[in-house]
Amino acid sequence: MLTFDIDAESCMLAEGRRYAQQPGLMSHQAFGPKVGVPRILRVLRAEDVRATFFVPGLTAERYPDLIRRIIDEGHEVGHHSHSHRAPLELSEGEERLDFERGMEALDRLGIRPRGHRSALWAATWETAAIAVEFGMDYESNMMDNDRPYVLETGGGTIVEVPPHWSWDDFPQYAYLWDPDVGKNVVAPSQALKVWAEELDAMREWGAALVLNAHPFLSGRASRVRAIRDLIRLARDWGDVAVLSASELADRARTDPAIERRNNDPIHVDPNVYPHE
Ligand SMILES: [Zn+2]
Repeated sequence: MLTFDIDAESCMLAEGRRYAQQPGLMSHQAFGPKVGVPRILRVLRAEDVRATFFVPGLTAERYPDLIRRIIDEGHEVGHHSHSHRAPLELSEGEERLDFERGMEALDRLGIRPRGHRSALWAATWETAAIAVEFGMDYESNMMDNDRPYVLETGGGTIVEVPPHWSWDDFPQYAYLWDPDVGKNVVAPSQALKVWAEELDAMREWGAALVLNAHPFLSGRASRVRAIRDLIRLARDWGDVAVLSASELADRARTDPAIERRNNDPIHVDPNVYPHE
């Protein structure tokens, strides 16, 4: 699965709205929607594969034509919060309000997303239930499998399509001093090696690699090429399907052997773990 989170400016503003006063930083983020996404779309079209773009409401408001174009080109748009603030730092009421604003921003573009990914994967124990409440059919937040599974939230089920850090481009490419998101610039051939070796091994287990790229990082020329090479590698193996998140969720729902889990918060005894 190829997923692209178009965080653009939102993920920096979530660190503090003062960052809006830094045109250099804002331009670093704007590279994603302005240059990265059009390049990625061109590669996806040339390779004839469908991808899933997770879009914060703020990005939908700032770049409506681009988001419409993603849909027009046959790809999927998923919900990715409104503000890109981490749910773990919000109250349940704030998380629900932010979720709703994100839905409204996509709705104004005529988009009804089927799935959700939390900002920074920083879901709370309530997030899955909130996503079901807003009609989501799948989410992509939890790392306790590398195959999709069905999660019972209490208010209904949702398909979890698990991500993982090793399939993300932040550990490879995230480089900024302020805010400090990492000091990483590896050769895209190295990133491709990490992803390709994992994908190759996953074929033994019937697992699902969920590439989680960010156009402001992976939209750079040599990095787009690495994504293209990954797609070609997968196609050459002949036994790898490239699916949108909805397609994968549909397969999971109709698979009689699919794993089913409950959303069980961990309750900790303070006598065992005295430190808050
Ligand atoms: Zn994001």
